[in-house]
Amino acid sequence: MVRSLSALWTGSAVVRDVAVLLRAGRVEAITPDREAKCPNDAEEFDGTGLIGMPGLVDCHTHAIWAGTRLGDFVRRLGGESYAGILEGGGGIHTTVRATGEASEAELTALFRARLGAMLDRGVCTVEVKSGYGLAIEAESRLLRIAVAAAGGQRVQTTFLGAHAIPPGRDRNAYVDEVCGPMLAACAPFASAIDVYCDRGAFTLAEAERILKAGKAAGLAVKAHAEQVEFTGVAALAARLGALSCDHLERIDDAGIAAMAEFGTIAVLLPGAMLYLRDPAPPVAKLRAAGVPLAVATDFNPGSSPVGDLWTCATLACLTMGLTPEEALAGITSVAARALGLPGVGVVETGSVGDLALFQPPPGEIADPRVLVQYMGGHLAKAVWVGGERVR
Ligand SMILES: [Zn+2]
Repeated sequence: MVRSLSALWTGSAVVRDVAVLLRAGRVEAITPDREAKCPNDAEEFDGTGLIGMPGLVDCHTHAIWAGTRLGDFVRRLGGESYAGILEGGGGIHTTVRATGEASEAELTALFRARLGAMLDRGVCTVEVKSGYGLAIEAESRLLRIAVAAAGGQRVQTTFLGAHAIPPGRDRNAYVDEVCGPMLAACAPFASAIDVYCDRGAFTLAEAERILKAGKAAGLAVKAHAEQVEFTGVAALAARLGALSCDHLERIDDAGIAAMAEFGTIAVLLPGAMLYLRDPAPPVAKLRAAGVPLAVATDFNPGSSPVGDLWTCATLACLTMGLTPEEALAGITSVAARALGLPGVGVVETGSVGDLALFQPPPGEIADPRVLVQYMGGHLAKAVWVGGERVR
């Protein structure tokens, strides 16, 4: 039992001076601290002065890769575009080559190192996509590694064979492969399918085939939508019952209306927006339409080399206009909804026993919003995943 917690973000609100009892992997009770009695069989942890958070949820990452993209970074700073580098066989393809040359042990170690840094910051649930394989065995290998490497925290895997068309491949043949044997090889290791529908990647018609095939295979639907160019994929994915559409810098009113109608979550990725110097998504319109807003890192070596979800929460406020409360919900409860995980990203009676405790920055008040005000680098004092102390 965590006693005397100064403030707790429940996923939707702040409560003060509470005790949280974790038992049998779940949150058993949240009580006013003065009424709390620690059961004899439970350990007591003093939360005086600390801020409690549900385990954070990073609902969009590409965290399994090998190799460097420093060259792309320098070229983009020199004025070249992300899509132009991709179309020239660089970008994602550079990472595909390096990832293909890395052994399973190397990829596992790299992924675990990234997961560990996330867990240090209280991130208890991480979504990770394939997409640096782009061949049947290479894609399923990445998903198998992700499933096997998960240890300290919950890992949700997404099949993204439709990340880019491999150089030299016939695009129709590649889409056939993604929808057929690649999907069959990957579906047992994934809970969702995703597609990068954009300039330099897949067309709207191809995205429709791919998402429908994934849905027919029992996978949840997600989409990289309206990032570099408008394609209309947000409206398409929403109508297919997508859990989320992600990026949305260039979404139109019809896309927003479809997402609102079908309950699709908007996943905002301010790291990618900043690195690619894109305009902000129309957050005021999404909010007015009632589309729930999640925030994620999009952690990858090319367009978003940002692994710190707290940094992205702050950037979502500064560059996209979220309130601190929206950002806190965006990295907890709403992010869990974007993964279809009930009882995750919240601290309420019966929810999963994920809890992270943070010291406020020196001299600051114990209010969860200060963790958004001060940008990034917040290391948790203690973390529980599924009721087990892991930090
Ligand atoms: Zn992405």
